[in-house]
Amino acid sequence: MLVLVINCGSSSVKYNLIETEQESEVCRGIVERIGAVTSIIKHEPANDTKTKLTKFVANHSDALQEIMNYLLDESNEFIKSPDDIKAVGHRVVHGGEMFKDSVLIDDVVKDAIEQAFDLAPLHNPPNLKGIQAAEERLPNIPHVAVFDTAFHHSLPPHAYLYGIPNRLYRRHKIRRYGFHGTSHYYVSRQFYKLTDIPKNDTKVITCHLGNGASIAAIRGGDSVDTSMGFTPLSGMVMGTRSGDLDPSILFYIIEKEELQLNSLHSMLNRHSGLLGLSGYASDMRDLISEANNGDRRCQQAIDVFCYNIKKYVGSYMATLNGCDAILFTAGIGENSAYIRAKGLENLEGIGIELDKERNENVKPGEITKISTDSSSTEIYVVPTNEELVIAIDAAKIASASNQSPWV
Ligand code: ADP
Repeated sequence: MLVLVINCGSSSVKYNLIETEQESEVCRGIVERIGAVTSIIKHEPANDTKTKLTKFVANHSDALQEIMNYLLDESNEFIKSPDDIKAVGHRVVHGGEMFKDSVLIDDVVKDAIEQAFDLAPLHNPPNLKGIQAAEERLPNIPHVAVFDTAFHHSLPPHAYLYGIPNRLYRRHKIRRYGFHGTSHYYVSRQFYKLTDIPKNDTKVITCHLGNGASIAAIRGGDSVDTSMGFTPLSGMVMGTRSGDLDPSILFYIIEKEELQLNSLHSMLNRHSGLLGLSGYASDMRDLISEANNGDRRCQQAIDVFCYNIKKYVGSYMATLNGCDAILFTAGIGENSAYIRAKGLENLEGIGIELDKERNENVKPGEITKISTDSSSTEIYVVPTNEELVIAIDAAKIASASNQSPWV
């Protein structure tokens, strides 16, 4: 089944056209800087040359039209009619407490996504805009929402409750939700295909290390703890996000720097993390290269990031009472042997032994074992594929929605 996967940001629409039976991508692309004087439109067909053009794209609806025009263009031959696309899968960041699975989008679902605007003000509003734009352009097919939070719905109360008055949870649903769910789900499932251990007995720690970074503890296929919390701001130090802080620091900063709340929000989300620590870059490649040139603050930022990995891995080893495998994924996790090695260095005492040579010879895009044969915990690099999870979920739900209820 041909499925269009849509991931909308405030000024961008990313898409992937995926053939779900073959689990293969036909084409992907992005419309960036929507609403700016010149927007950038990129298309990357799987079997053809990439294209890039600039033109004014006023809003998300026009961005969707640009994408459809490209896919329908006769010279590309991706689709002959919009009806060739059998479902649209939408990435939605925050599903609140309501959604533990992907759902067919209707008015109730759209209302619920809107109700979660306060929980994810940077993500849910553009996600809903994307849904509305896609429904406008592709009105006759099922649209499915796939939530970043859904996989972590299995967290037990002792992992999701914060130490604040319980009425705040009851009234406002303040709790740990966790994010990157589709990625943690996908990479853990890739490990289950490799191992002889029955899924219900498995214990896995997944490290999604990209611009956003989170680590999850997964027992028997279910997420039981994860580093991100009420929002994607918490947990590990990330590209530009601070990660966990002593909450008193916030009051202190407001007072000392005379900051407004919205400036504090922006500082913690956009100017902190690796960027804030280094004063140089949020991109790990840039940091590593500058640290190699002797920049002390870039090195410190890397050290903090790697120490965060070690602390979460260590605490989840305790949570799970040992684990079968640690899985690295996303931009940094898949591509940086240096960060993987530094994040797991000196953990032989708890049975984690990285094989230096295997770690340095990981081929891009391949699942690779990087632990020694004697390590009691296996370690793998597993390339993630969130879009495939979204496409497969959308295909499943669309097929069910097309069946007669009388069958
Ligand atoms: P996003 O959260 O935006 O999807 P990605 O998963 O694409 O992020 O990861 C982006 C991060 O991966 C950046 O910090 C980038 O520097 C890092 N990265 C990509 N390739 C390498 C590499 N070879 N070595 C170190 N870091 C890398």
